[in-house]
Amino acid sequence: MIWSKYNLLLDVDDGSYALFNTSSRTLLTFDKETYDEFLYLKENPDSYTEFEDADFLTKNMIIVDSDVDIFSYHLNEILRRRYNPNVMSLTIAVTRACLFNCIYCYETDRPPVYLNETTENHIIDFIKTNSSLQELAVVWYGGEPLMNFQSIERLTEKFKKLGIKYGAEIITNGYLLTKEISDQFSDLAIRKAQITLDGLKEVHDKRRPLCSGKGTFDVIVSNIEYLLSVCPDIEINLRSNMDMENVGGYVEFYKYITNRLNNDRVKPYMGYVQDILNSGCTVESNNIGGFNNRLPIVQEQKKRV
Ligand code: SF4
Repeated sequence: MIWSKYNLLLDVDDGSYALFNTSSRTLLTFDKETYDEFLYLKENPDSYTEFEDADFLTKNMIIVDSDVDIFSYHLNEILRRRYNPNVMSLTIAVTRACLFNCIYCYETDRPPVYLNETTENHIIDFIKTNSSLQELAVVWYGGEPLMNFQSIERLTEKFKKLGIKYGAEIITNGYLLTKEISDQFSDLAIRKAQITLDGLKEVHDKRRPLCSGKGTFDVIVSNIEYLLSVCPDIEINLRSNMDMENVGGYVEFYKYITNRLNNDRVKPYMGYVQDILNSGCTVESNNIGGFNNRLPIVQEQKKRV
């Protein structure tokens, strides 16, 4: 076994230590004692079996088989998924419209364009061109996809009639997730939802208001509570878009929301606002896109949680 060439073992200026594997994207932070153990492991990779978490080290590609070329491994995986004729993944934007006006939205113009039945039928025709298809995975996307819920309903019915394995996810701001819509999620085979809350009420409402300026936090949180109660299988990826303005409040938000929702099916995580299109969605000084900026933040949060 060898120490992966994708490991970065870091002795940070402020006296903290970390290991980041750029291949598996595993990030660990630890104390000096563990850092010394990793230094030893780096020089003596075969000693990994003596580590309490030996499985973790191999599973996360920190220690790898000397025969494995990780780059080829990833490439093979990507190609296998991309060119597997039995499986198709589609991201379908059912509308460009959105009722929010988030301060960092990269979709600067959100025209009220909606997927119509003609285009839906073209999608079905396209899927049918693959005669060996056995599995279809869809991500409902927008704008705000729930603004064209009829299209989601119609297409799901048509997908189910194809007689293949089918499942869906949705990326939604969560505001229109009414009881009537949540009640249908299981039938629509929507098993995952990505919903964004940027912090506690005061912070979130400033960053992700309605177009009218009204806050959205309270409605979204109660919608999530209801969705969890009626969909026993739904998993919610609870995203928080962070920049230097709101990152300081993440720990308080994390404690509040995990305590309030109190459900293992809710997975909070941070996204990082980065102005990749130079659209002015965040000023440069607020940008925490770079790894050097993120590491101290993660370390600080780990100390506080
Ligand atoms: S909810 Fe999404 S699409 Fe709508 S304004 Fe916010 S970031 Fe843009």
